[in-house]
Order: sequence, then C-alpha cells, then structure tokens
Amino acid sequence: MRFYQQHMITEARNKLNNVFGFEDFRPLQEDIISNVMDEKDTLVIMPTGGGKSLCYQIPALLFDGLTVVVSPLISLMKDQVEQLRQYDIPAIYLNSSLTDEEYEYNIQRLKDKKVKMLYLAPETLLMERTLNLLDDQNVDLFTIDEAHCISEWGHDFRPDYRELTTVRDRFPNATCMALTATATPRVRQDIKEVLEFEDSDTFLASFDRKNLFLKVADKEDPLEQTLDFLYTRKKQSGIIYCFSRKQVEELFVELKKAGHSVKPYHAGLSKRLRNRNQELFIRDDVSIIVATIAFGMGIDKPNVRFVMHYDMPKNIESYYQQIGRAGRDGLRSDCLLLYSRSDKQKIQYFINQKEGKEKEVAEKHLKDLMKFLETDECRRVPLMKYFGETYEKDDCGMCDNCLSVDAEVEDLTVQAQKMLSCISRTDEEFDAYYIADILRGSTKHKVLENGHDELSTYNIGNEWAKEHWILLARLMVKQGYLHTEEEADALHITKQGQAVLSGKENVFGVLDRTDTVVDDESMDRTTAEVEQNYDNDLFEQLEAKRKELADQQSVPPYAIFPDTTLMEMAYYYPQSKDNLMPIYGVGSVKLKKYGTDFLKIINKYCRANDVEENSEALKEKREKLQEYGEPYQRIGKEYNAGKSIEHLAEQFGVKDVTIIKHLKKYLKEGNQIRPEGIVKVSSLSHRKREEVMDIMDEVPTHMLRKIYTELDKSVSYSELRIIQLYYMAMNKK
Ligand code: ADP
Ligand code: ZN
Repeated sequence: MRFYQQHMITEARNKLNNVFGFEDFRPLQEDIISNVMDEKDTLVIMPTGGGKSLCYQIPALLFDGLTVVVSPLISLMKDQVEQLRQYDIPAIYLNSSLTDEEYEYNIQRLKDKKVKMLYLAPETLLMERTLNLLDDQNVDLFTIDEAHCISEWGHDFRPDYRELTTVRDRFPNATCMALTATATPRVRQDIKEVLEFEDSDTFLASFDRKNLFLKVADKEDPLEQTLDFLYTRKKQSGIIYCFSRKQVEELFVELKKAGHSVKPYHAGLSKRLRNRNQELFIRDDVSIIVATIAFGMGIDKPNVRFVMHYDMPKNIESYYQQIGRAGRDGLRSDCLLLYSRSDKQKIQYFINQKEGKEKEVAEKHLKDLMKFLETDECRRVPLMKYFGETYEKDDCGMCDNCLSVDAEVEDLTVQAQKMLSCISRTDEEFDAYYIADILRGSTKHKVLENGHDELSTYNIGNEWAKEHWILLARLMVKQGYLHTEEEADALHITKQGQAVLSGKENVFGVLDRTDTVVDDESMDRTTAEVEQNYDNDLFEQLEAKRKELADQQSVPPYAIFPDTTLMEMAYYYPQSKDNLMPIYGVGSVKLKKYGTDFLKIINKYCRANDVEENSEALKEKREKLQEYGEPYQRIGKEYNAGKSIEHLAEQFGVKDVTIIKHLKKYLKEGNQIRPEGIVKVSSLSHRKREEVMDIMDEVPTHMLRKIYTELDKSVSYSELRIIQLYYMAMNKK
C-alpha cells in the first residue's frame, strides 16, 4: 500500500504520458487529481474543453475499486465510453438505450469485477436494483458530471440529481467528485451547498478560452457574410446558430446551393432526423450544422473549428455556452457574431412581453450583451467581467478589437493580375486553394505532378499568406472579375477580369485581415508553430486513414486520434514507433493499435516527397517528457540542503502548506527528505503527535479523512498533513 501511495503522483503522470499520450497536465488537473487521491471530496469548475474528464479518469485508473460516473446525457456517456475503450480501459454504461442482452452482459461484467469505470444516468442509478448491485462493488470514486443539474438556478435542473446526495451516503468509502462547466456564480454556490463541499476542495479554473478568436461584425448582407466566412474554412467543422427554425431552413438551403456540406437541426425535425444529422456531423461526414439553440447539448466533438451566430444570441450566457462548443481540442477556432439593431429589437420585443422580476433580469442580460457587442476594448474584458473574472491583459491578440488592422480600401490590382494570370495559365480548371498554392510555390504532390512548378506564375506570390490569396479570389468573384459554376469551385475569368489582366481596369477592395492574422504570443507557442506549419497534404492522407479506421469501428474519428495528433505527425514526420511515442495523443495502447497504419503512410509520403524525419525536434520532445524539472524538485533539494519550510515559503512567496505539498510530491517520487525539519512547523504537542502516528500505523496515511474521524476531528487537516509528511519521511529512512 505504501509503495502505491508514494508513487501516486508519478503514477498519475505515467498514466497521462503512457495511456493518454499527453505531455503535461493542463492547469489545475494535477492539483485536482492529488486532492481526489487524498480521498477528499472535490468540486471542479472548469470551462468546456478545460479537460475535466481526465480529472476523474486518471484517479479511476489509480484506485483499486470501481469509479461510478453519473452523467445526464446518453449520447455523452456513449461517446466517453467509446473513447475510453480506444485506450483499452474497461468502461461500460447502463442506460435505457441498451438492449436487454447488452444490459445483462454489462451487469455480468460488473459482477465479475471486470469493470473500472461505470457510466450511469441518474435515474438508472436511483433504481433499487442498480443500488443493490453496487452494494457488492468496491466503489472508490463517485463522480457527478454536469453537476449544475443539481441546482434549481441552473438552466437544466434535474430533480433526479438532487437525490444523488442520498445515494452518496450509500458509498461511505467512496470519494465524491462533482464537475461542471457552469459559469454562473449562483449555480456554483448552490452546488457547493447541496453537496456540502468545503471551499478548500473547490477548484475553479479561469473561464477565458484563449484559443477562441472572437469577432463581432455588423450584419449587412448576412448570407454574403456567411459565404465569405465559409470560403476560407473549407472542410472545417462548424456550427451556425440562427434565431428561428424558419431561418435555419432558409440558410440551410442557401448553403447547400452554394455547394457546402451542410445539414439543418432544430426542434421541428423528427427525432430520428435530428439524431442522424448530429451523427453525420460528429463522424465528419458533414462539415456544417445550421441550427437553433436546440443543438449542441449532447456534443463532445473536439474539432469544431468555428461557431457562427447568424442571429444575435439572447444573452451572454447562451453566447458563451454556444461558442464554448468550438475548439475543445485547444486549437484556434473562430467565433463570428453578426449583429444588427433589428435583432436587438426582436429580443427587446420578447422582453417586453415579460413582467416584473423576470423582465428586469432579461433587461439586465440584454444590457450586458450590448456591452460586449459595442465595446471598443478587448472583447474579453466585458465577457470575463460577466462571469466575475477580471481580464488583466489589455490586448488578448485573439479578438477583432485587439487585432483591428485598419480596414482600408487598397489597390489590389497587382495581386489580382498575378492571380488572373495564374488562373488563365492553368486553363481555368482549379479552385482558389490550388491557385494560391501555385502562387506561393508549394511543393505539393499535385502541383508537381501537374507540372505547375514550371509555370511563370509559380512562386510569384510569396508576399501574401495563403489565406489572403483565397480572400482575394472571393473578393474578385463578388466584384465580377471571376465567377464559379454552382456547386463547383473552379475559377473562371470574366470579361471584366480580362480587362484587369490587360491593364485596362484596376481592382480595389478591403481584405479582412483579422481573419488570417494569428498572434503567436497569445497562443501556446509550440502549438502555434505546429498548427501553422504542418504539412497539409500529409495531414489529409492521415485524416483519410483515420476516417477509414473510425468507420470500421463505428466510432467518431476523434476517438481514434484528435486533430493535433495528425498535425504533429505531419510536422515531425516520425518514422518509427519510438519516435511516434512522443507525438501528442499517442500512448502505448494506441501506438500498438494504430502505429503501423499511420507510420506506413508517413514513410511512404516521406519517400515520395523526399522529406526527412524531424529527428532533432522529436528527440527534444522526448527529453522534455522525461525530465520536467519543476518547482517541487527544486524545493525538495533546497529543503534537504538545510533550508527550513518557513524560509522556502517566503522565498517562493507561498504558504507553508504549499511547501509541504511540494515536499510530499518530491517524496512520493522516491526521494528522501529530512524528517526533523517538518515537525518544526507543527503546533501539536508531542503527545498528540504520537497519538496521530499511532493511528497512522493502522490506517494508510493517504486516508486522511479516516484518520480525521478516528481522532474525533480533534486535529485539523492542515496539521494532519504535516504529520502525514513526517510519518512518510520517517518510514522512508
Ligand atoms: P471538458 O470535459 O472539460 O469539456 P475534456 O475532458 O473533453 O474537456 O477535454 C477536452 C480535450 O482536451 C479532450 O480532447 C482531451 O483529450 C484534451 N485534454 C485533456 N487534458 C489534456 C492534457 N493534459 N493535455 C492534452 N490534452 C488534454
Ligand atoms: Zn482582445
């Protein structure tokens, strides 16, 4: 037991690296996992995409017994279980969607103690037969996901959730964990009260989603604006929210007509059709969903690249929830909101129908939203303020206001001529993406195969990023210099375009550069580097493989690998299993399952294109994984060299308990620490200390709660933690 405990943090890290294939914990994850492993009830409040699941999945793997996860939505349960199975983690779910046989089969596996994680709908858990079944199980962790459903103040209160508090008493040995992405302080407080959680066991992450680019534009010609927006986002997954069903249907038809891969979603469609459209989206069979706010609840798709509001949202909260569905995987994602006065009047009209308190609240919501829409400063300032956070930086680098590159009319004639000439030389057979590739001297297979590297227009357009060229093409289509056939993307030159080519006419226009500028500073640097420079051709081949594997198993592609994994593969070009291992999202199980499939593609691609593995960078990446020289290591060493805990606390500007935590971690990694110095910060009498240590002889030291009760609560947790460390340090000698 002691061995297990001492190596807990190392073990948690091992699981992170080897099972999930991630390099480092996200903010708070490690603290949360430590807290849970200390068997303390834990409340986690983290925005969507913050990485909540890992906070209970890793403890689930480390605990001996069963982890029960209560989740309100069947689709989410299924999705999670599918993903866990990809890691060979024995997870099952019980809910009404299972056939009798499946249900029985799952129950049998549970009885045979073959299950590590059990997902349940609250109503299933509350059934007597389920509870009886669990009585015979050793439940170590009881997890309540989407915990805001407990609160009557929340938008999706579920009476069943309230009853979970009683169920909790039925597993006295289980640590209880509640998680939510709810942003309202009121609901947070309510959860804490209902579940009786301590403040010290509440972990609140920042609600700033750094990877979301926020933009608000005046709604002038919404259809055109939408088509513009989609033009540079070919094949990307995205959601477009509309106010009404009618608007959804209309926009859907228009986008379909323009050749986009799109499906509608709203409450007026049959349940079957809605499910189907949602599934097509999740499986990457369809790129865009046009929807009312009915869409999104059961969606965990990590690679949603954009969320657009065709109509104005009702309030900041729903806006934040909806854009929150973008970029769960941490990659840059775009949020565009089209704002018009008449939309505002529509909302005002609905508010006017209300009365009293309700009306007052709605008025306030609208006012807050207007602050966000009309601000000249960083959009994150009013947004975060709404959620009770102060945004400290004055330039986020990821909103339209911070990046406002003056939108002035420019003379674009020179670039237009380059583009027209390139289109003409390739017989008007290609789309803007391909033309941009030629202009920028791409060495893509298709370009070389077609011999287009021999053209005089090859490599004459390096002054602009690829996206700029694509935007220019779009602008020239709109101004009538180019045209495209419906449902086809090849660019044709019009008569007016000929005039530009022969120098008789000039092209003027505004290119919206906020669409293409990325501020490296605001993003994690390494991610931004990979994100912007990966090999798109190889990426597409890997993507096709992923889709094939996913379809074979009827799972969504992201369950095989997230986009980041494929991007890193297409950046580092790893050519051996050893070098595949440090790639994001590649752990030992997935390496075994899919390594060969993907390596084959990379190897072949590298041979065909004369590309080499990026061995140096891969080596660095691997080394980084191994060392992680962190504060606790420094603290451990300095402490052993003779510095006192108080001294270190001052030096690092933290409290004593934090130093104790670091020392514990250092110890658990297999290092020794001096026991003498620890007792000095304890205020317990010698006799009391002995009493605690006697109990620790009987009860494993990590079961603090048990020790606490055995002592009739006479010693505080913070004192216990000191003695715990002392005890561990003594026994290590
Ligand atoms: P939430 O439930 O908070 O919305 P998820 O648990 O779904 O977030 O995590 C969002 C995404 O981030 C997932 O694709 C997950 O695999 C990934 N992720 C979580 N933790 C890490 C980490 N430490 N390093 C890298 N990726 C992570
Ligand atoms: Zn900003």
